[in-house]
Amino acid sequence: MPPLPSELAYVPFVSVEHMMALVHHIGIETVLIDLAAEIEADFKRWDLFDKTPRVASHSDVGVIELMPTSDGEMYGFKYVNGHPKNTKEGLQTVTAFGLLAEVNSGYPKLLSEMTVLTALRTAATSAMVAKHLAPKGATTMAMIGNGAQSEFQCLAFKAICGIDTVRLFDVDSAATRKCARNLQGSGLTVVPCKTGEESMEGAQIITTCTADKQYATILTDNMIGEGVHINAIGGDCPGKTELHRDILLRSNIFVEYPEQTWVEGEIQQLEKDHPITEIWQVITGQTEGRRTDKEITLFDSVGFAIEDFSALRYISKAIVGTEFFTQLDMLADPDDPRDLFGMLQRSAS
Ligand code: NAD
Repeated sequence: MPPLPSELAYVPFVSVEHMMALVHHIGIETVLIDLAAEIEADFKRWDLFDKTPRVASHSDVGVIELMPTSDGEMYGFKYVNGHPKNTKEGLQTVTAFGLLAEVNSGYPKLLSEMTVLTALRTAATSAMVAKHLAPKGATTMAMIGNGAQSEFQCLAFKAICGIDTVRLFDVDSAATRKCARNLQGSGLTVVPCKTGEESMEGAQIITTCTADKQYATILTDNMIGEGVHINAIGGDCPGKTELHRDILLRSNIFVEYPEQTWVEGEIQQLEKDHPITEIWQVITGQTEGRRTDKEITLFDSVGFAIEDFSALRYISKAIVGTEFFTQLDMLADPDDPRDLFGMLQRSAS
């Protein structure tokens, strides 16, 4: 019998099933609030992080991306895809998993599913940013695109920004029915709408979260009144945007990491000298966010590695003392660290 690997050689693994159980155990709104706090805290120590635009491998039908970062103590990365055609084949548009490692040894400390976690962290980031930018006292959000991310977005805006009403629109009415059904009992007033224009009636916050591999025009300039906050989630790849350029020209634009957003975000439609603000500077108080009641604020979200890092670190703490993970034998652990071959040889007997 080959020697069993020591505890150190095991890596905690959070499966989709365990992630779901953990979220239910903690409560989804608490998870969203906690994640928003973790992400906000990490955005406050922005300078500490090793940052790079994500590494993207594009094809005609989608993209596969790696998103690494480190704060000097821990290193994390996420593998994520984006394939808008997938839902027609019964597959998710976005799936992900991620890993957190210790910088000191380089040893992985957590491997986790991140499809559910990405929906949670994206929603938490959106709502955390809106807390800084949206008009005070906002109660109603238009939610355009009622796919996999949508309920998470609605619940995060309820828990973090105090939204009490969501107005849903999707080109596929089945998606809107699904979203409305899933939000029953959430405490939100849910209003299914037949057009994008209708969804925007009375909304102080507008979230666009659609999936289409093209320069789409989910919002046109005439649809946007003064003073609203736009949370644009779905434009996150070269050649994949949601807003008409004229809206960008009227908005005060906030981004995560400019080097990545210029390539992937709504702002790929603008000249490179157009003024934009990094949201971490608003969060730390170095720059003003919303300045007037009348201005349009736009969070041009593409999703940045630090948000995933914060989410993985949160999960690594949350599973301690629980049964919501398994130990994965994914690190070789020979008795003599230099005798890897001997370990292999002994395993034959
Ligand atoms: P999904 O495929 O499950 O849902 C997308 C929905 O958009 C579908 O219901 C579709 O019918 C609808 N839609 C498409 N075109 C539309 C239009 N013109 N008007 C209204 N609705 C329309 O995808 P998802 O997982 O919910 O992701 C949505 C988008 O968010 C994707 O583009 C994804 O890449 C992006 N995303 C961004 C981040 C981020 O951090 N910014 C994170 C996750 C996902």
